Amino acid sequence: MSEIRSSDGASHRSAGPRSEELFERALQVLASGVNSPVRAFRAVGGTPLFVRSGKGAYIEDEDGRRYLDFVSSWGPLILGHAHPDVVEAVSRAASDGLTFGAPCPAEVELAEAVVESYPGLEQLRFVSSGTEATMSAVRLARGATGRELVVKFSGCYHGHADHLLVAAGSGLATFGQPSSAGVPASFAALTRVLPLDDEARLEALFASEGERIAAVIVEPVPANNGLLIQRPEFLAALRKATSESGALLIFDEVISGFRVAKGGAAEYYGITPDLVTFGKIIGGGMPVGAFGGSRDLMRHLAPEGTVYQAGTLSGNPMAMAAGLASLRVLESEGVWQRLEELGHNLDENMKSALSASPSPAKFVRLGSIFWLSLQAGEPPRTAESVDSNIGERYRRLFHALLRRGVWIAPSAFEVGFLSLAHTTEDVARFADAVGEALSEVTTSEG
Ligand SMILES: *Cc1c(COP(=O)(O)O)cnc(C)c1O
Repeated sequence: MSEIRSSDGASHRSAGPRSEELFERALQVLASGVNSPVRAFRAVGGTPLFVRSGKGAYIEDEDGRRYLDFVSSWGPLILGHAHPDVVEAVSRAASDGLTFGAPCPAEVELAEAVVESYPGLEQLRFVSSGTEATMSAVRLARGATGRELVVKFSGCYHGHADHLLVAAGSGLATFGQPSSAGVPASFAALTRVLPLDDEARLEALFASEGERIAAVIVEPVPANNGLLIQRPEFLAALRKATSESGALLIFDEVISGFRVAKGGAAEYYGITPDLVTFGKIIGGGMPVGAFGGSRDLMRHLAPEGTVYQAGTLSGNPMAMAAGLASLRVLESEGVWQRLEELGHNLDENMKSALSASPSPAKFVRLGSIFWLSLQAGEPPRTAESVDSNIGERYRRLFHALLRRGVWIAPSAFEVGFLSLAHTTEDVARFADAVGEALSEVTTSEG
């Protein structure tokens, strides 16, 4: 049995007996016991909770413990868990047959809803994950421009396609190094990696290699390495550099799409990319991704064009129904205002909770995405300025919150999400719990 032991000698069990037992079994038959690394709790220690159910803003684990949830399945659940409209749409679709591998009306309707919402978007293609969306968008960009290089930014995550699992080389080198075993150095050599928030480095790269660059891919709201909110001027510089050199600008809106605004970061910042990728919210909790752009670019895809891309379960009727039901709710009156009010409310509550904290803690938020940053100073805008030493304090905070029935990400560098299911009481309770947990954590450090 794994226990979390704090330095004051107190110990508590991180998970109930049922989760412990399930994880023992999982370790036998699933690699590291999980299907996605962060779920294994390596960064915070202890045994992962096995979730039995979710309703609204709460989840319940296999031991019958309830938690106020701010992980929101890592982003998709902007309506909360098991929203009745989504559940009904999926059930209805399921009773008509699970998959046909042929066109279905729901995929047309969901595409229409997404195209109408997003600035400059004319056509889409659906896939089954965010990873597939970015992988396909990069291939399309290369096929359409006839160029090979891709530019990404350190601190941005775009899923786990080979050419995007690339980190910056040492020093000022922009040549990418594989960030995972199994990615050949020769693949990574076609990816350039720049720091965020640095127009000078961007301009220097375009001056030397602009004619070889097929695309610049960026999370316009970087939310996978803390929340690194960018200056609008930096995003505008990306638009300008790509337009001038004939490269394509790809906004990876897998997290920010239908999250920071109905039209994503493109609407929020007033900057229109050439290609956009979606995931998470557009599937309403089902496995869906999408990529899209102008008709002129999308005609490069097979069968009309020469860029190959396909998927057995792409546009799956149940998944399309879930996405469509979610977007319908997001179209209702006052929804975006309500989310923003809730976020503002959380800001205010956190401000007073954190002001009493004996150790550095800042609350960073854009729309319904937030990050509890445990480093001193102004919130960072680049991966390089994220303090990697906050992990231990976060580990204690995480478990102190879990004991109070609050579920945040099991990693210091993952963000949290508000949903329409959260209430002002929920956010007040969250802020109180964080305040208490921080003083407990800091006291036990001494
Ligand atoms: C989650 C995420 C991805 C990957 O999506 P998956 O569905 O996990 O493959 C890609 N880009 C961004 C910005 C993401 O947040």
